[in-house]
Amino acid sequence: MKTAQAFQYKLSESNGPWLIGQVLISKNSDSTYSLSHIANDQKPELFHDPVILRKWVNIDEKGEYRPLKGEGNLKPGWKLDALSLDALIFALNVIYPTAIANWLHYDANSLRITPFQETAARQTGMYRVVARQLTDQQLQEVERETCGIKCLKIRLWNGQVVEPKEKQDKQEDHIPLLCPEACNLFVAACRSKIKSKAQ
Ligand code: SF4
Repeated sequence: MKTAQAFQYKLSESNGPWLIGQVLISKNSDSTYSLSHIANDQKPELFHDPVILRKWVNIDEKGEYRPLKGEGNLKPGWKLDALSLDALIFALNVIYPTAIANWLHYDANSLRITPFQETAARQTGMYRVVARQLTDQQLQEVERETCGIKCLKIRLWNGQVVEPKEKQDKQEDHIPLLCPEACNLFVAACRSKIKSKAQ
């Protein structure tokens, strides 16, 4: 099944709205969708073309670059309305790249999860040190400092699990943000941790 079909099927299981990360998806009476930031004030800027999001997702409220798209510092103040399903998927891929595909694969038991040891062993060049020298304690510290404090994703690569729906105390249906493999920023943070301890 294609992503759009599979996503539509999943959305058809409830009336929404659906919360994913810091954004809320709602279905309109004409079967289009709206997408907005959960921390919007009374009058967000209203758009219809999801391409506009590219400028919103790269910079936080302080005007600083956001390298980690799963970080909980997505800038509020916008709403997209009258989106087709394809436009909705496009918008979500701009905000949270691969999140929808990951969720659909997870739901179908076909999401590949890569243990950190495998990710570390694949590193080359200056990052090879991560496989050779990172201790378990350093790994936990980086997880706490990089993933735990900043990132909204669930670390499947390190055994975290998605809470079953009945255990979630959210009003909205929840689409989990999944992390099946440690990202490049995490690997870089591991290297920095090793180097800082060595000095
Ligand atoms: S490794 Fe950590 S920081 Fe990187 S995307 Fe996954 S959860 Fe987020």
